[in-house]
Amino acid sequence: MSSEDKIVLIDEKGRRIDGRGPEDLRPIRMEIDVLKNADGSAYVEQGGTKVIAAVYGPREVHPRHLAFPDRAAIRCRYHMAPFSTSERKSPAPSRREIELSKVIREALESVVFTQLYPRTVIDIFIEVLQADGGTRCAGLTAASLALADAGIPIRDLIAAVAVGKIDGVLVLDINETEDEHCEADMPMAMAPSFNEIVLLQLNGVLSPEETSKAIELGKKGIMKIYELQKETLKKKYELSTRRSQVVT
Ligand code: ADP
Repeated sequence: MSSEDKIVLIDEKGRRIDGRGPEDLRPIRMEIDVLKNADGSAYVEQGGTKVIAAVYGPREVHPRHLAFPDRAAIRCRYHMAPFSTSERKSPAPSRREIELSKVIREALESVVFTQLYPRTVIDIFIEVLQADGGTRCAGLTAASLALADAGIPIRDLIAAVAVGKIDGVLVLDINETEDEHCEADMPMAMAPSFNEIVLLQLNGVLSPEETSKAIELGKKGIMKIYELQKETLKKKYELSTRRSQVVT
């Protein structure tokens, strides 16, 4: 590609390709209790990224040798639907999906009170319906909402966002085009009430100063996502309280 063909990701006014400023999140929509056959579920839309999470359990483990005597096992499957990307993706789990399932599981394990349910399993399914960057982060945000919706005791919700570096500028919540062309991409997830980072990955290069700044920027975005998560959960319980007041 010649330098003339180079895609302009940040214009002279500091606007990104979708009109956002460097510290802006994409528009976010969240809903819980979206699947009737799961114990808990959530839908999260973040710009063009759309994910659904379903939680089952705690329930009996099959095969039994996978059970832990002192706590629940957590199984997690992150999967991209074949229609979620511009070119059809094979439905078979890729190495990337297997790796993401593992890091997402580890992040979620850090907040679930698994010791309350020995010898059981909690199954978490994350299905990416439409991929436009930041799918692991939206998946984590949705999965923690689905755990709460299932009534599984957790220390905190998990909120996640990816920070990128574009033309030397740190930007929040990168989309697919930005992800493709950025100098660095740093997905992060936190248990926000504890100010605890539960997932931090880096693709590309950031200096130590940039890394600290990127983490601070990510935290700002995560706190906004966390507020939306809490509002989404409250809305469900306000609705059910209103309904029971009508009935009684
Ligand atoms: P994340 O979605 O968590 O940012 P990646 O950085 O690996 O994970 O992917 C960035 C984006 O690239 C995805 O959100 C998606 O839009 C796109 N992408 C990833 N894998 C594929 C694939 N197999 N086919 C097409 N697009 C993909």
